[in-house]
Amino acid sequence: MAKGKKSQGPKLRRSCGAMAAHMMLLEQYPAFRMNQMRLEGATGKRRDTGFDLAKSKLVTIKTVVNVVYKTPDQNISDAQIASQIAALNKDYRAANTDKSQTPAPWKGLITDARIEFKLVKVTRTKTTKDGFTFDDAVKKTATGGIPPTDPKTNLNLWSCALTGGLLGYAQFPGGPVATDGVVINVQSFGTSGTAQAPFNKGRTATHEIGHFFNLRHIWGDTPDCSGSDMVADTPNCAGPNFGKPTWPVITCNNGPNGDMFMNYMDYTDDAAMFMFTSQQVLRVRTALETLRSGLM
Ligand SMILES: [Zn+2]
Repeated sequence: MAKGKKSQGPKLRRSCGAMAAHMMLLEQYPAFRMNQMRLEGATGKRRDTGFDLAKSKLVTIKTVVNVVYKTPDQNISDAQIASQIAALNKDYRAANTDKSQTPAPWKGLITDARIEFKLVKVTRTKTTKDGFTFDDAVKKTATGGIPPTDPKTNLNLWSCALTGGLLGYAQFPGGPVATDGVVINVQSFGTSGTAQAPFNKGRTATHEIGHFFNLRHIWGDTPDCSGSDMVADTPNCAGPNFGKPTWPVITCNNGPNGDMFMNYMDYTDDAAMFMFTSQQVLRVRTALETLRSGLM
């Protein structure tokens, strides 16, 4: 290990490839666009009819972890995999203790998605690839990866090296079955082993599974105030927040409370994000109970 005070380079920032992958799929698969439109319609209908989230069925999702490694340390341990599942089980039940840091005006919005995750299978695949990107190569044998296991009934996660500073990416609901699931950088998978600060609390998977259940980034993926995440209880905001901001951060005339940067669907560090809102959970539950009902 190098000692002394050598520069660590620029501070690591969260970067997610889900929207880039999403745009690519929309072009390639007309059926995906159609499915997404129908899902948006179903979500709007539920929102308008005052759906009671507290009465949602508790769902346990069978989860497969596909470890794709080149170096021995990328062949992560069963304990590290278990640490990721444990983190998800806290975050998706709003059982994470750090939610207490949520600013007072938003505490009442914190919502239990009533989703739990159970590890049912681990696959381990040695690859010759130095790294992957959001083009789904990690999900195909011919390109150095491994296909998902029964993706209609299992959530598939891949742990692998991702290039270009990507922490992860996900496929939104209604896309092709052969590539369905969530890819996580081996450096931000779980809470131990290869997981590196500031992305070592398992929240890359929490964020990406949010996309898998149809959640958008809270700033709406535009470089200004025009975009929307189609969720009414996350304030409109200009762009992603990074690191560990100090509340409040005001953009887009959203004062006095400002951006909800502690939401899992922002780009803040793992230790700075700790909540989904009720309207986000409504989107998640609608996706789960319609296009993703095979997981129930
Ligand atoms: Zn994202």
